[in-house]
Amino acid sequence: MHILIVEDEQRLAFLLRRVLLEERHTVDLAHDGQRGLDLALSDSYDVVILDVMLPKLDGLEICRQMRAEHILSPVLMLTARGAVEDRVTGLNVGADDYLTKPFAMEELLARINALLRRRDRRFDETNQLSVDDLILDMARHEARRGGRIIELTAKEFALLEYLMRHAGQVLTRTQIIDAVWRYDMEALSNVVDIYIHYLREKIDYGFSRSLIKTVRGVGYKIEA
Ligand code: CA
Repeated sequence: MHILIVEDEQRLAFLLRRVLLEERHTVDLAHDGQRGLDLALSDSYDVVILDVMLPKLDGLEICRQMRAEHILSPVLMLTARGAVEDRVTGLNVGADDYLTKPFAMEELLARINALLRRRDRRFDETNQLSVDDLILDMARHEARRGGRIIELTAKEFALLEYLMRHAGQVLTRTQIIDAVWRYDMEALSNVVDIYIHYLREKIDYGFSRSLIKTVRGVGYKIEA
């Protein structure tokens, strides 16, 4: 998963990053509020970890602006010990959870996993992902476009699901391999390109609009 950490205490920020990298997440770091907000508004994070007290712009304001811009990434707030008002305000501005400093790394990881599960459940309630006229039906494990059922292999399905869960976001080959192939040691460096080609043949060729887009030098995205 792709995680943003906005924390001005450098030692804590680097420690958090190291712990999350060990859990095979990809991590971006911002040391002040303005940079944190700019990154958060790119809407490319599965979880955003926000310290409350930050230079330039505090964590509460970042969260408020994210929600105002309809950025729905789950937010975990880091608050100072005893700052009850921070917690209440944090939840009021749209944070999903908070953690009081100092905290154990196990606790942080547990909270992050809980946020990811909660986010996945939101998708599961509908059991469908859609981009334009392409529908991925999770319950029936099938894709449909323009009313036509498209047969997908397990890997093609997993790749399409990952792209659609992050519709509109550019995903790097590394992110895609981490998410779809995980610990599969047989994954070749060009495996992503090969499978994108397979997917295009099935869901884009023969349709007037192509949904899978190549972003040169970066990776791929799916969008209407
Ligand atoms: Ca701080």
